[in-house]
Amino acid sequence: MAPVTTTQRTVLAGARVVLPSGVVENGRITVDGTRIAANEQAEQATHDLAGRGYTLVPGFVDIHNHGGGGASFTSGTAEDVLTGVRTHREHGTTTVVASTVTESLDALGRQAALLSELVEQGDLAGIHYEGPFISPCRKGAHDETLLRDPDPATVRKLVEAGRGAAKMVTLATELPGGIESVRLLADLGVIAAIGHTDAGYEQTAAAIDAGATVATHLFNAMPPLQHREPGPIAALLEDERITVELINDGTHLHPSVLELAFGSAGADRVAFITDAMDAAGFGDGMYDLGPLKVEVLQGVARLVEGGSIAGSTLTLDTAFRRAVTLDGISLTDTVQAISANPARLLGMSDRIGSLEPGKDADLVVLDEEYAVVGVMRRGAWVVRPEGRL
Ligand SMILES: [Zn+2]
Repeated sequence: MAPVTTTQRTVLAGARVVLPSGVVENGRITVDGTRIAANEQAEQATHDLAGRGYTLVPGFVDIHNHGGGGASFTSGTAEDVLTGVRTHREHGTTTVVASTVTESLDALGRQAALLSELVEQGDLAGIHYEGPFISPCRKGAHDETLLRDPDPATVRKLVEAGRGAAKMVTLATELPGGIESVRLLADLGVIAAIGHTDAGYEQTAAAIDAGATVATHLFNAMPPLQHREPGPIAALLEDERITVELINDGTHLHPSVLELAFGSAGADRVAFITDAMDAAGFGDGMYDLGPLKVEVLQGVARLVEGGSIAGSTLTLDTAFRRAVTLDGISLTDTVQAISANPARLLGMSDRIGSLEPGKDADLVVLDEEYAVVGVMRRGAWVVRPEGRL
């Protein structure tokens, strides 16, 4: 006999609610157990949010994230990973993909095994391999001695090490084996992401034709856009098959460049990511990023050797607030880029990414300055809004 479960019905009312169809003032979200039951029904409120200027949005989805809360997804223990996950959850990110950096294949295989267990438990949504198949010319904060060409057999091995949890591989598709590897990843149902690349315009277009669908942190770690040499950026921006990752921390991209890219790709082709490292939600200091040393000063992470930017200390609530208050991006477009699009890329649109009936009750309550005052994940409060609740 099935165990009897009592589900609690929560009706959040009186806030502005951002739905796929638009913004509803004085909207209503009904949560039943772990799911959203309704987003319009006029049920009796159990939680009255009226009169505070609150906005309810879907939980954020981060497809590129190396850690937070002082802990690393890239090289940490299971406990470390959960610390990072918890930190990002408190900032509204209810779905996280863990990103690795370039390490030896053995080390990556071991970390993938650990991460895949956390995916199985539902704490992570997948694994993103960033490196080792990247260009030495655009290596960013990756250990050059461990880089390698994307030969398809090695790519397959790494995907298999993730035991079904590998969701995305960033690669420089112009390297030997690059195009074949893109085809292989597309066949395996894993996102081929173009990044840390030195490819030109035509080479990038060929990789898109082969099945690549994501641009890893567009603009960062790739040749710049030039008027006679459009390079990868123009190819990635103009092709409707590509979703571009943007790091909206004010350090990786000048706001005007971010706005230009957002406008050019359109709201349904942008994914806001953090590319966060351990210092996100934690603080300045010395950290490791895989095998490399990183110093974080005033929230900016740089390699001790060479000074390359080494990931961010961003959390997605800050990316959200910047988009709406500084970049002039509408609430619905911001929600699209921070929740719906990444959910679609992960193949999880049936469960997350919008506040629609039947989906997981993953939601964020923002105050009038767009600071997080509440986070609910699968119907349970991670951060409980204060007041009459
Ligand atoms: Zn990264």
